[in-house]
Amino acid sequence: MSLPPCPKCNSEYVYQDQELMICPECGYEWNPTEVAEEEALDIRDSNGTRLQDGDKITFIKDLKVKGSSQVLKIGTKAVIRRMVEGKDHQLDCRVDGAGEMMITAAFVKKA
Ligand SMILES: [Zn+2]
Repeated sequence: MSLPPCPKCNSEYVYQDQELMICPECGYEWNPTEVAEEEALDIRDSNGTRLQDGDKITFIKDLKVKGSSQVLKIGTKAVIRRMVEGKDHQLDCRVDGAGEMMITAAFVKKA
């Protein structure tokens, strides 16, 4: 079981201290139970379809992978593991051939 990335900065180095999750990179602390209660996130794909955890999606454009030269081609499939409220990347996905990464909802459509 890996911990979810930091909701503020998407850091992967989050650790747990009793009830709290703590991000060492930006210092954000949160209670995952509270986050779960707020989880009626209204996140929509490029067609305006509401997305949910576990939905299968495909990319509607080529996406560059941050910090690498890899490009995820249009039509690449992914599964939403969980969604977070974020300005840029709302979807924590498992991407075919690329592993886990954060994706922008506006660049995908529900499969
Ligand atoms: Zn953080």
